[in-house]
Amino acid sequence: MRLSELVKVILKYNPKADVALIKKAYVLAEKAHKGQKRVGGEEYFSHPIEVAKILISLKADSASICAALLHDIVEDTEIKIEKVKQIFGDEIAGLVEGVTKIDKIHFGSREDYTHENLRKILLATAKDLRVMLIKLADRLHNIRTLKYLPVDKQKRIAKQTLEIYAPIAHKLGIWSVKGEFEDLSLRYLEPEIYRFLASKIDEKRDEREKHTAEIIKEIKKQLKSKNVKSKVSGRAKYFYSIYKKMKKKNVGFNEIYDLIAVRIITKTIPDCYTAIGLVHDMYKPIPHRFKDYISVPKSNGYQSLHTTVITEGGKILEFQIRTEKMHHMAEDGVAAHWRYQGTERDQLFDKKISWLKQMLEWRNLASTSSEFIETLKIDLFEDEMVVFTPKGDPITLPKDSTTVDFAYMVHTNIGNKCSKALINNKIVPLETKLESGDIIEIMINKNAKPSRQWLKFVKTNKARSKIKSVLGMTIEHEKKDDIELMPIDILKRIDVVGKKAPVKLSKCCSPKLLDPIVGFLTKDKKITIHKKDCPNIHTLDSKKEITVLWKDENRLPIIKLALTMVDKVGTLAKVLNLIAEYKLNLKNINTKPKKESVVTTLSVEVDSELKLKDVINEIKKMEEIIHVVKSK
Ligand code: MN
Repeated sequence: MRLSELVKVILKYNPKADVALIKKAYVLAEKAHKGQKRVGGEEYFSHPIEVAKILISLKADSASICAALLHDIVEDTEIKIEKVKQIFGDEIAGLVEGVTKIDKIHFGSREDYTHENLRKILLATAKDLRVMLIKLADRLHNIRTLKYLPVDKQKRIAKQTLEIYAPIAHKLGIWSVKGEFEDLSLRYLEPEIYRFLASKIDEKRDEREKHTAEIIKEIKKQLKSKNVKSKVSGRAKYFYSIYKKMKKKNVGFNEIYDLIAVRIITKTIPDCYTAIGLVHDMYKPIPHRFKDYISVPKSNGYQSLHTTVITEGGKILEFQIRTEKMHHMAEDGVAAHWRYQGTERDQLFDKKISWLKQMLEWRNLASTSSEFIETLKIDLFEDEMVVFTPKGDPITLPKDSTTVDFAYMVHTNIGNKCSKALINNKIVPLETKLESGDIIEIMINKNAKPSRQWLKFVKTNKARSKIKSVLGMTIEHEKKDDIELMPIDILKRIDVVGKKAPVKLSKCCSPKLLDPIVGFLTKDKKITIHKKDCPNIHTLDSKKEITVLWKDENRLPIIKLALTMVDKVGTLAKVLNLIAEYKLNLKNINTKPKKESVVTTLSVEVDSELKLKDVINEIKKMEEIIHVVKSK
């Protein structure tokens, strides 16, 4: 496609496009890339044209089209960014620079990308989301032409596309690009599976297409009779989504029935509901498959009605019903804002940008790269659910989120001050997991504050980061923090009445501290401890039953720590804070000044050896501490 044709297409959707500027970009890029070839042998300039075309298909604005045409000139030709700035201004130069920055991120020869690179990508795009759109288009054309590269490179690029770019396209709601990313990645990563799926899908294609055509005809007729103006189409689902389903459900291809999705695009929202009523009248809906994403949009803004039905012939079909506007949003995601720019304020676009900003905020709170990558992974992939505030505002949360996650999602201060939670008007413990559709009310108390315990059950990264920042914690603490007693610590607390015999905890019910317990004598004269309600004890010989008790149940062992420290103001306070942070109970403090140092003896109640070890390690790390001695 040459310049005049490009311009024609652009003017069709954007009569106010800056044609002169686009022409200038085209001419400059063509000249700059002259003589350069792509690996496949074609003129290099064909690449920026294709990238621009992808953006044009997303109805991009003039600046993005110019930047797409120019996106490789700073990196691959003599032209400097200053010159781009001079000719095209700051906006376009900024976009070109952003894309170049992402390109400069070297993914190395290692199979996996590094966390740092991912951070850089997000940083480079946080300022202007259009940079990411251009980058996605660039990657799309590159992966479409991947066949010219050596196999190891193909695999690396495909993996990276699947792991980074497809989730980003998903999060930005650009389904068409996401689908193509996944299918093409699958083709290079799992060529055999890809070929198998392709041939399978091809096998009954004729039959399926005929069947789909009949259904579409029938639906169109019905819709027309109800005066619903609509477009109806059927399409085969993406390979990768079929593959994922096969893997998830652990089933073969022949057990995947809904290979076809039928789409009904209407003019108005009431028409969507009329249409779904019709579909449910005509075919038998499968229970629990009806989803109303129109009244409760997905977190990336996606809106549609979904349902799966069984036809008379026993075929399973998925329906997606939405308005034209929702459809454009669904296909083009954030890019759709171009289409509606000027006509109304696009809150969706703001929402999507705020996602990227949030990601970066979490990045700052998260103290290690690996946690960051976890953040990204969880927030991109986790199954979602929708719950409601008492006023009925929908809040989207990952599956298994708790009332505390909800509180933080509503507002940081509500999270920090949350003291009680009600689910559907009933008071529940804070760690209660939410179910889709629940109505949650959070009671706050100005004296309440986050507890370390919360970290054990919160699911969202937002809650986790905020709790940690209030507690002033670092990641290392949390990882080591294990207030579960080790089996060895539990065994020490068990008193076998009137007997001396080695004890061990049964694996079937793993008793915890202070559980009601009972012992059984084994063949090798050991005593196995079971919980009193362990279902297995009925199978054991009651004559071998031994009474066991918990030793001094009201008191935990007390350990003395003698710390020799530099005589400096604030040192003791630091130590005490550390002990409080680990929730160890301090029983006694005794301080003796020496010549140049101070010896402080602390008596602490210990509920976990592991925790004690961690505290001692933390204390030893302090530069004011000279040495630490532990005694009973
Ligand atoms: Mn490129």
